[in-house]
Amino acid sequence: MSLLSVTDLDVRHGLLPAVRGITLEVAKGETLALIGANGSGKTTLLRAIAGAHIPAAGSISFAGQDVTSLPSHRRVGLGIALVPEGRRLFAQMTVEENLLLGRTAGRPGDWTVDAVMEAFPNLKPRRHARTGTLSGGEQQATAIGRALMSNPDMLLLDEVSLGLSPLVVDRVYASLQGLLSSGTTIVLVEQDLDRAMRVSDRVVCMLEGCVVLESPARDVTREQVTQAYFGLHKLKKTGTAP
Ligand code: ATP
Repeated sequence: MSLLSVTDLDVRHGLLPAVRGITLEVAKGETLALIGANGSGKTTLLRAIAGAHIPAAGSISFAGQDVTSLPSHRRVGLGIALVPEGRRLFAQMTVEENLLLGRTAGRPGDWTVDAVMEAFPNLKPRRHARTGTLSGGEQQATAIGRALMSNPDMLLLDEVSLGLSPLVVDRVYASLQGLLSSGTTIVLVEQDLDRAMRVSDRVVCMLEGCVVLESPARDVTREQVTQAYFGLHKLKKTGTAP
């Protein structure tokens, strides 16, 4: 059964159509990777699902409830958490204080500050440090931890690798591994195609605001995804590029 249903979604930035007619289902427990070139609309789609950007048309439902016009804090309360591109931490506040902000939705669950420290051991010695003084990897771990503190049913991860060295990205993904295999529903934007295909159940490739390829990760080759990425493919699905 689908946890998330996106139907005929249009999202604009002013007059610019950034997401065009996208229809997408995400099943409970699934890890879906969103792939696509810069500007293809991945971030806009994630932000629309999280309620940070209200769509011009179409609908979004989560756990059977229409959330299309719900503000983002109400969606957090329903179990949708976004780890935004660029992390957006409060630099003057400590790791622990940033994490505690994630609890304001008041959802019950197992995530505590200590649990986040266990999942991301690199944060342990930095617990009382201001996040402005952290390394990129520590900041990313804090941003993911803050989202987890809301005990989400679905986690939206926007480019967790951005600006991190390959070694640090490996560490972040190693920490995420437990989460990826724990049954939490995850939608992730990842520029590293190999990694995206390795960690996800299904891949969706976007081009110019549309879905141009959608497939179980194991049924598609890297070359097919690359072709879709550059628009050199046979169109496959609804919400496709003209
Ligand atoms: P990236 O990988 O660079 O983050 P993306 O696939 O996530 O790209 P979006 O950031 O969603 O794509 O951008 C989709 C389109 O919307 C692009 O043409 C982009 O220039 C435009 N856009 C994104 N944010 C804004 C904004 N705040 N104001 C105006 N246009 C925007």
